[in-house]
Amino acid sequence: MAFAAIHPDAGRIDATLPDLGRGLTWADVYKTRPRVELRCPECGHGVHAKVSARKLRYFAHDPGRPANCTWLNESLEHHLLKLELATAIRAADWYAELEVRAPDGTWRADVLASSHDGTRRIAWEAQLSPITNEDIQERTERYRVEGIGVCWVSPGGKSPWMGDVPSIRVQEPRDGRPWTVIDGPAAFYFEHGTWIAVDDLALTAFIRWVLHGQTFVHQVRHPYRSIWFGASKSWRRRPLVWTTSPHVDTETRHEAMRQRQEERKRQREEQERQAEQQRQAEAEARRIEEERQREAQRQEQQRQWAIEAEQARQRRKAEERQRQEQARAAEEQRLRQEQHEQLLASQWWAELSPAQVQELRDAVAEPLWKSQATRAEFDAQGATADSAYGITIYTRRRLHGILRLSPASLQRLPPVVPVYVRNAREAHQLTDTGNIDPGRVIHFNLPDHEQMSLI
Ligand SMILES: [Zn+2]
Repeated sequence: MAFAAIHPDAGRIDATLPDLGRGLTWADVYKTRPRVELRCPECGHGVHAKVSARKLRYFAHDPGRPANCTWLNESLEHHLLKLELATAIRAADWYAELEVRAPDGTWRADVLASSHDGTRRIAWEAQLSPITNEDIQERTERYRVEGIGVCWVSPGGKSPWMGDVPSIRVQEPRDGRPWTVIDGPAAFYFEHGTWIAVDDLALTAFIRWVLHGQTFVHQVRHPYRSIWFGASKSWRRRPLVWTTSPHVDTETRHEAMRQRQEERKRQREEQERQAEQQRQAEAEARRIEEERQREAQRQEQQRQWAIEAEQARQRRKAEERQRQEQARAAEEQRLRQEQHEQLLASQWWAELSPAQVQELRDAVAEPLWKSQATRAEFDAQGATADSAYGITIYTRRRLHGILRLSPASLQRLPPVVPVYVRNAREAHQLTDTGNIDPGRVIHFNLPDHEQMSLI
């Protein structure tokens, strides 16, 4: 079905216009006798005027139509939409032609809107069938080259090209509402910083605004290409929207603000980066300084240790000197003591004559011989320091006692063995020192002076 046909006399006629666009009436072509030879503007095949059950006037191909005619398979829905578009264009006081072909066949518009002065043309394409994005871009470009604007109109369903080319989605009349634009136009809200879809716009109003230049296609700036659809509460990508100058200005203003913010953010990040660099440099300087201090401390510690080690060495040396000094002093003391004891011992023994010494030896030996038949052996070395400057006495090769040790050398006395002296006076000389148990001292009451009778 189609709305346009070629009349043999009037030329192109339009079923949607009361005078068919050519000063005729519907009665001039509908069910006439004889029949008017109408032809299809697209394929040239014969067509005839018809009225649908809904009282819609249109042209249908005669039997035997060519299968490849573009208008052939178009649906009633498609035609109704085209009719609606044409009606809205005419209501805006523009010319509307249906099913128009370019003279050279490069384009073919469903509805071509033209301003009265002929300077502006906009094609309105009711695109119901699927079309690839590539094809629709190419057809849009063809219009652009011809200086013709275009708006692709989708009556619902999937239209992947929506927003990639100048386009709108419309909804057919329902619930007492007329044809409504539900996708395509958008308004920019500064406070939200986004485009928001205008999804409730009467198609006739939209077309009037577009034809009058109040609404136009706008290429959305990249940061704003996600557009909010309140009805479906979703974001959709839309590179192109229909809008008005104030909204474009608002987007421009918002973009300027956004770029200022980004610039400030960039500056802030740069400052933070520099501050971080500064912090790192300071931390590095601190680390180096701490390392230097640790090294200085380590060296100081080593120096201290060296000093302490030297001091300890000196101290040990001094202690060694002191020990040697003390040892020498002790040795000197010992020698002095020994010399002293030797002196006193020689004085002690000088008190006795050899006879008196013999007398004492006999006094020890005789009782042993008499009572036990034991011979007393006197150390041939005489008085020695080991015997406290007394004379060691053995019986049966065993230590028996000490004969007349020197009172000044009691500390040298071997333990336990008895000590023999001449008389009580000598015994007292020993015991008076307090350094010997009196029970160990045995005396014989020998006289202190030599007996004249012994001479
Ligand atoms: Zn045809």
